[in-house]
Amino acid sequence: MGKLLLTVDVENWYNSRLFDTKAADHYKSWVSDLEEDLDATLELFSRLGIVCTFFVLGCELERRPTILSKIRKRGHEVAMHAYRHDMHEDLISFKSDLDRGFKVFHTLGYQPLGYRHPYFNINKQKLEILSNFFEYDSSLVPSLHIPGHYGSPFSNTKVHFYNRMMELPLTVFPYLRLPAATGWYMRNLGYSYVKFMLAKRLKSEGVAVLCVHTWEFTPKPSIKGVPNHVFKNTGKQMVKMVTNLVRELECIGAQSATCYEFLKCRE
Ligand SMILES: [Zn+2]
Repeated sequence: MGKLLLTVDVENWYNSRLFDTKAADHYKSWVSDLEEDLDATLELFSRLGIVCTFFVLGCELERRPTILSKIRKRGHEVAMHAYRHDMHEDLISFKSDLDRGFKVFHTLGYQPLGYRHPYFNINKQKLEILSNFFEYDSSLVPSLHIPGHYGSPFSNTKVHFYNRMMELPLTVFPYLRLPAATGWYMRNLGYSYVKFMLAKRLKSEGVAVLCVHTWEFTPKPSIKGVPNHVFKNTGKQMVKMVTNLVRELECIGAQSATCYEFLKCRE
């Protein structure tokens, strides 16, 4: 029926701007770390027999270079999730972050073929730059604009090309352009909502793109100053929902693929 592109952002739970770094230091010693989160994610995907694309944050890869081979050994693809998890509002900051990211990957002898911008904070100028370096990008959320977050209500919702680079937008509800293809929606609104939208897109376009984070697959405590919805249903609940989602989409004929595999089969 189509290809399910499950994409995973590999970053620490405190890399988001929602956290004050000093407060995060207080919790770091007893909340799971990126590698534990990654192990839990890889374990689940092996059990499910699926392949995925992992967008790895450059500064975290620099600290833990072994995660690159750990992910690739299981048959998954590794792409870049910038160097720092920032908005990179101006192009100078964006370009220097990109250079830094490449440096980390190249030191490890790896050429990432794909990119995802932190917070999906993408625009045309950035896409133009990315198209000189990458085969694909998955930074666009063509949904209604969610103030303070993301959303490009006038962008193409289908897989398309920007110059020669393939753009893989996160799947949104057709016409209404409601966002639904992230772990947050699954954990807060239930997996049926996400499944309905992905199944619809798989049927009409033959592909659906979903984004989750490694830190969602291990339990997170409530943390002072962080709203409850941020970590709601992480750990076992998330594992259960992704398992059900994958199994039910398989029942209607969906198969998992990495972004580059999908690009190659489209050529
Ligand atoms: Zn991210």
